[in-house]
Amino acid sequence: MQTSLSSSSSSDTKPEMKEHCDHRADCLKMIQLILDGEATEQQLAGVKANLESCKPCIEMYHLEQEVKELLTKRIEKRCCPEQLVATIKSRILTFS
Ligand SMILES: [Zn+2]
Repeated sequence: MQTSLSSSSSSDTKPEMKEHCDHRADCLKMIQLILDGEATEQQLAGVKANLESCKPCIEMYHLEQEVKELLTKRIEKRCCPEQLVATIKSRILTFS
C-alpha cells in the first residue's frame, strides 16, 4: 500500500497516447492558420476531420488557443504575468 499524499493539484497525470501523429508539422501549420483566422472553410473542414482522429494535435490545438488568448489578454489589459505565458509555452514544448 502507498501513503496517499494529498496534493491539491494532481491533474498532471497524462493518459497514454496511443494515437500518433505522423503529420504534426502540417497539423500545427493548420492549427495556427485557424487561430489566426486565415484558414479557408475548406481547410477548416479538413482540419476538423483530421483533428478528430489525432489526439496529440487536439491537445496542441487547445494549448495554442490558450497561448493566443493569454497573449491577446496581455496586450489588451497588460496584466497577464509573463510567467504564466512561459509556463504554457513550456507545456507546448513537451509535445514536440
Ligand atoms: Zn495531427
